[in-house]
Amino acid sequence: MNQHDFYAGSFDVAVIGAGHAGIEAAAAAAKLGASTAIFTVSLDWVGNLPCNPSIGGTAKGHLVKELDALGGVMGIAADKNMLQSRMLNRGKGPAVHSLRAQIDRREYSGWMKHYLETLPNLYIKQAEIVSAEPSKMPLTNDIPNTIENQTFGEEDGWKITTKLGATYYTKTVILATGTFLRGRVYVGDVDYESGPDGMFPATELADCLKELGLPLRRFKTGTPARVRRSSIDFSKLERQDGDEKIVPFSFDTTEPGENKVPCYITYTNENTKQVILDNLHRSPLYSHKIEGTGPRYCPSIEDKIVRFADKKRHQAFIEPCGLNTEEMYLQGLSSSLPEDVQMRIYRSIEGLEKVEIMRPAYAIEYDCVDPTALLPTMEFKEFSGLYGAGQFNGSSGYEEAAVQGFVAGVNAAFKVQGKDEFILHRSGSYIGTLIDDLVTKGCSDPYRMMTSRSEYRLVLRQDNAEERLMHIGYELGLVSEERFNRLKDILALKEQEIIRAETTTLPPSDELNKILEDAGSTPLKTGAKLCDLLRRPTITYEMLTPVDKTRPVLSEKVLEQAEVEIKYAGYIARQQSQIDEQKRLEQMPLPENADYSKVVGLRLEAAEKLQKIKPKTVGQASRISGVTPADISVLIIWCRK
Ligand SMILES: Cc1cc2nc3c(=O)[nH]c(=O)nc-3n(C[C@H](O)[C@H](O)[C@H](O)COP(=O)(O)OP(=O)(O)OC[C@H]3O[C@@H](n4cnc5c(N)ncnc54)[C@H](O)[C@@H]3O)c2cc1C
Repeated sequence: MNQHDFYAGSFDVAVIGAGHAGIEAAAAAAKLGASTAIFTVSLDWVGNLPCNPSIGGTAKGHLVKELDALGGVMGIAADKNMLQSRMLNRGKGPAVHSLRAQIDRREYSGWMKHYLETLPNLYIKQAEIVSAEPSKMPLTNDIPNTIENQTFGEEDGWKITTKLGATYYTKTVILATGTFLRGRVYVGDVDYESGPDGMFPATELADCLKELGLPLRRFKTGTPARVRRSSIDFSKLERQDGDEKIVPFSFDTTEPGENKVPCYITYTNENTKQVILDNLHRSPLYSHKIEGTGPRYCPSIEDKIVRFADKKRHQAFIEPCGLNTEEMYLQGLSSSLPEDVQMRIYRSIEGLEKVEIMRPAYAIEYDCVDPTALLPTMEFKEFSGLYGAGQFNGSSGYEEAAVQGFVAGVNAAFKVQGKDEFILHRSGSYIGTLIDDLVTKGCSDPYRMMTSRSEYRLVLRQDNAEERLMHIGYELGLVSEERFNRLKDILALKEQEIIRAETTTLPPSDELNKILEDAGSTPLKTGAKLCDLLRRPTITYEMLTPVDKTRPVLSEKVLEQAEVEIKYAGYIARQQSQIDEQKRLEQMPLPENADYSKVVGLRLEAAEKLQKIKPKTVGQASRISGVTPADISVLIIWCRK
């Protein structure tokens, strides 16, 4: 504490960071009635998109849809500030259909800032937090006042202090500091302390958290250059437009908006490869100047050239960053090579021969925590009332950050309000899968969500996110009755439609048989149930419209869901029984203070891992790497005893 510190206020929940995690955390806590404060290094970059100007993508779209169903903010913000929208993987099964929207970066940030500014119960402040430490909560609340004049009670809390000495007391703290903690930027052999986009790093807080005993480690990530639109030769690029029919992220978006801008595609070539190989010695990554571990699934272009040496070319997307800017984002070309080499790399690529760099590519290294130190509520096991969310927890991506922030915000508010914990299970959502993976398995590089991470992906589809989760959002108090009733109406229509499809027989006719033959499907000799026709791989509701005379007027949403459930009924039923089995194990609690070294028959490695992770249930124990099914059988017998 220094002599100028002064008392500036008390809260139930204090959120450090107004990035994607911090926004959802603060909004959820404030909407649940907790007095909440949110701090950020710069109010001009609330909800900043320091990397790709897009929201969603494979599995990330699922997270946004799930968050929206629960009452989060990112989905509606993305719809309001969307430049172009595409449903990825349409050619594949519904489990991997994923929405991705190009976003106007500046507008999105402005929209999120104004959203927070107008939220009741929320205090929003530009201030760098330099320390956070356990403390008793003050009994008095006159601001400003000297700390000495404060009288303190017995209630436990936290004391956080800003660089300017403003001291706040709070019952809970959520650390959502992203890539700022001891941030260091690398471009070739130049490196310096910095947060993303030239913002201040948060070095003092990193030192304080280390001293507190948090298990911090170094990760890194990187971003490509932003180049000037007028310096690109678009005639040499492949144009990629948005979808004709736009599917919104949010359940509340009734007017999905229109595509405003295209994206473009180009490829690296042998020259690009040679430029990179000739200059690899100048890469901070390959000269090992960068210590932090980078994201396996978002490699830099130099990493791709080295790791996939046999590949002749790598795809790159040229994406607009906004309507009122000439900046174009070079997706797939992130790098930390020197700027002159970056220029030669980009100018070796078709369409970019005369490109002008407006912002060079860079890598950023930062401190983040080992997420196995957290509970599935996002609270630290060793520090009551302290929570972690987002990139700070070792994940990578706006969407991954946002969902962790939401869960942390709800739990911090509930802790203060004495309510039960809010935990989402992996059998019910990608959010539950993400958090369970982080706190149970940990991550050795920035964790990115992928559909392959869920063993229940056929049931955890984008199109049924509301059906799976909105009732939970309603029970939490973050979804209104009116919204929930709207969903119930849609689900009732879907159920009725599935029954109609199971009870409607379409007679064989020339028109129907032509539709079937055109779709490469066997024509009918006798009548067939509508549902049986829909179960044929190439047959869709849309195709059958002309012959499905009794079909009521239904929205595309209802028809899409009915079609998926009819087509995949068998697979879904099988996956549901796996989920029920897993839920049975999830319901088998494990004592918090168990001494696993005393469990007879348990292997040493398993006992050590269980002691470290302290799983809450047998289900969670079954997912700890190094704990075998045999160990789980021993645990189940031990639990029963
Ligand atoms: C250069 C770069 C490249 C990236 N590349 C990728 C990628 O390729 N793929 C991908 O999925 N993701 C990438 N990301 C990550 C993506 O940006 C993050 O995942 C996402 O922004 C994380 O959200 P967050 O809320 O956790 O943190 P952030 O969005 O980083 O927000 C952190 C917030 O904390 C505030 N803050 C930090 N410390 C303090 C303090 N002491 N006091 C007050 N406020 C503080 C900041 O002001 C900011 O508001 C990249 C990020 C960067 C910077």
